[in-house]
Amino acid sequence: MKSRTQHLREASHSWPQPDKQGDTAACLFCDTIHDLVDIQEGEAAYCKRCGNIIYQNRRASLVRATCFSISALIFMLVVQFLPFLTLNAAGLQRELTLINTTTSLMRTDAPILGASVLVFTILAPFFLICGMLYSTTPLLAGRCAPGAEYVVKWVYRAEPWNMVEVFLLGVLVSILKLAQVADVHINAGFWAYAGAMLCTAAAIAGIDRRELWDRLELANES
Ligand SMILES: [Zn+2]
Repeated sequence: MKSRTQHLREASHSWPQPDKQGDTAACLFCDTIHDLVDIQEGEAAYCKRCGNIIYQNRRASLVRATCFSISALIFMLVVQFLPFLTLNAAGLQRELTLINTTTSLMRTDAPILGASVLVFTILAPFFLICGMLYSTTPLLAGRCAPGAEYVVKWVYRAEPWNMVEVFLLGVLVSILKLAQVADVHINAGFWAYAGAMLCTAAAIAGIDRRELWDRLELANES
């Protein structure tokens, strides 16, 4: 039985890879099969056919994924309370928050659009961030949270449904259009949302998914 100190020391190690003798990995771009090999921190395994990266051993990956997840969660919580945009038109001023926008759409004549915005721009990012935190935080102490494998599986499945960047791009286009008929001011909520987008992307990209699976496997065995 390993002590807590041993767990913590191992968790700080670079990608403690279990024995992968005979295991293979396919290149995502050309499907060429490669034997898995251990790589040092800061290195990457490249496809011998097309040269694309198959997997990477990123520096301080676990700590980085956890810290960016915490930052993204703080940004997402802040977004719910800060005004997103302010519109001034014909003497009327309206402050919009992200959640107000979705509920207004659902209450009026676009319930499906409102529900889609809610799912893809608030719930999916929250699930991604909380899922990453749930799986990576206990790993820092060498532990595996109950059901973490299922959570990680669903985090990667939900990743394509996180459309924060699409929404932000749409908002920017809308601002350009609305600027012709009203004064539009970007508020702190918008920048917090942009921060959440960057931190979520950095958290997901911060740790190779093979590494996350290996860490979960080792934490389960110990
Ligand atoms: Zn390839």
